[in-house]
Amino acid sequence: MLATLPARIVGKYQRTSAKYFSRRMITMRNESPLISFTFDDFPESSLRVGGAILKGHGLAGTYYASLGLMGQMTPTGLIFSPGDLKALLDDGHELGCHTFAHCDSWETTPSAFERSVEENQTALSRLHSGARFATLSYPITCPRPETKLRLSRRFECCRFGGQTFNVGSLDLNLVAAHFLEKDRGDGAVIGNLIEQTVRNRGWLVIATHDIADEHTPYGCTPAFFESVVRDAARSGAVIMPVADALKHVLRV
Ligand SMILES: [Zn+2]
Repeated sequence: MLATLPARIVGKYQRTSAKYFSRRMITMRNESPLISFTFDDFPESSLRVGGAILKGHGLAGTYYASLGLMGQMTPTGLIFSPGDLKALLDDGHELGCHTFAHCDSWETTPSAFERSVEENQTALSRLHSGARFATLSYPITCPRPETKLRLSRRFECCRFGGQTFNVGSLDLNLVAAHFLEKDRGDGAVIGNLIEQTVRNRGWLVIATHDIADEHTPYGCTPAFFESVVRDAARSGAVIMPVADALKHVLRV
């Protein structure tokens, strides 16, 4: 039935379903405003350049990896190698799950999506015994309600997009994030979001992909990323990876 409807209507139906079904709502209890930096796909530049910028400010981020893409050239750039994985864990960043095969979150059946999540964990355990994913980000599109439900049993929280920050209450199965590449280098948008996050004691999850002067359409320049990190560091918000920030949100 959906195939016969215009793409705009289908997209709205998908986003509405993802937003209102299979929710795991919580009241946010963090005492300070929070900011998390996240990178989807984990292109090698996100750690070698983006991670170095974070480290320069004494900060760490969350990298959402699809181990099935390791070493491959993709639309978001060259993906991490096993050596990057080790460097990431040694530097105190969080490694998050992005499915093994980078599954489209709406187009993939919930059972196949869950199998790919399991495959990603198996692949990680093979490389680093004892390492576990605590959080996930949904690849490409919004998730189906049944996918949200299945993942709620596996992850502390799952991140999507939405170009906003979390405030007051949130759905642990669909944490909002702001993708930097959509700002097209305009620092005013993220500057405003950081300000609102601090004023409302919210949680801003910033997302992007590669960090390079010649970045893909899904990434941004090192200069832009550095300016965002600097603004965040000066804002008064506590900056930490997603799994750590979530502990403050839940106050556990
Ligand atoms: Zn992705």
